[in-house]
Amino acid sequence: MRIANIDNRAALVVGEPGDERAVDIATLSDGRFGPGLSALYSSWDEVRVWAAEVVVASLPATAIDRARLGAPSPVPRQVFAVGLNYHDHAAESGFESPTHLPPVFTKYVSSFSGPDTEVTIPADGNVDWEVELVVIIGREAHRIDEADAWSHVAGLTVGQDISERISQLRGPAPQFGLGKSFPGFTPQGPWLVTPDEFDNPDDLELGCMIDGEEVQKGRTCELIFPVPSLIAALSQTVTLYPGDVIFTGTPAGVGVGQSPQRFLQPGESLDSWIEGIGELRQRFVAESGNKKACRDADRKSHHRPHRV
Ligand code: ZN
Repeated sequence: MRIANIDNRAALVVGEPGDERAVDIATLSDGRFGPGLSALYSSWDEVRVWAAEVVVASLPATAIDRARLGAPSPVPRQVFAVGLNYHDHAAESGFESPTHLPPVFTKYVSSFSGPDTEVTIPADGNVDWEVELVVIIGREAHRIDEADAWSHVAGLTVGQDISERISQLRGPAPQFGLGKSFPGFTPQGPWLVTPDEFDNPDDLELGCMIDGEEVQKGRTCELIFPVPSLIAALSQTVTLYPGDVIFTGTPAGVGVGQSPQRFLQPGESLDSWIEGIGELRQRFVAESGNKKACRDADRKSHHRPHRV
């Protein structure tokens, strides 16, 4: 099953790749499920049973306008992001691979967007790319075993953990959450795909391209902590709720790890994809002259005890 967020209403996605169409779930279920995505995840087990039997042909499926797609879980109670979860990426970042749970941080929900967007590069920012498999939780989980983890997953989607490296890495300790949460820095989509749709949900190819040039390509079977062990490990501390979002980490090929380093420039396009799910498409633009001028003036007018 595939589920899209269209104008903040949950929709079943039907049809073949390239000709996907949508059916509104609240309409199809006579108001039993939806209309929003959060309501859908909070009754996920019932949704699965209903979806297995529903006759989609009873309603006309409409063409999907990608500009109206939002993140598949647009207002999760919690967002987890995992760093250094592929050996090659840990090495290019100058770190040892983690042997215990990798670093866990958050991306704030205000940075969420749908799959096709224009993203503003903050003035003087070094904006980098990180394609990631994103997990959306479907069932509350606390202290669960790896063997039970997949049964707590509603589905998978494509995510970009867009990162501004200057604000992320400066200071006495890194600012992962803020450096990765500028507006539009967390695009996701194009829709959620349930785990049963994949031959092997633990082995999916993922990658991204800048203006058609491939910069990242990997497979999720290379995750140091695969999806089941991440969920089991997180749930030893926190309770995971339906709709919660987990960014699982990025493979090698980010800009900060290249020599010389490379960052996204105004006018460049970033296309990200995962096998069996779909694509994200981001176009980058410069911060407008006015905003930048105001920020520069603001900087000068404040006493700063630390370097800017
Ligand atoms: Zn990341």
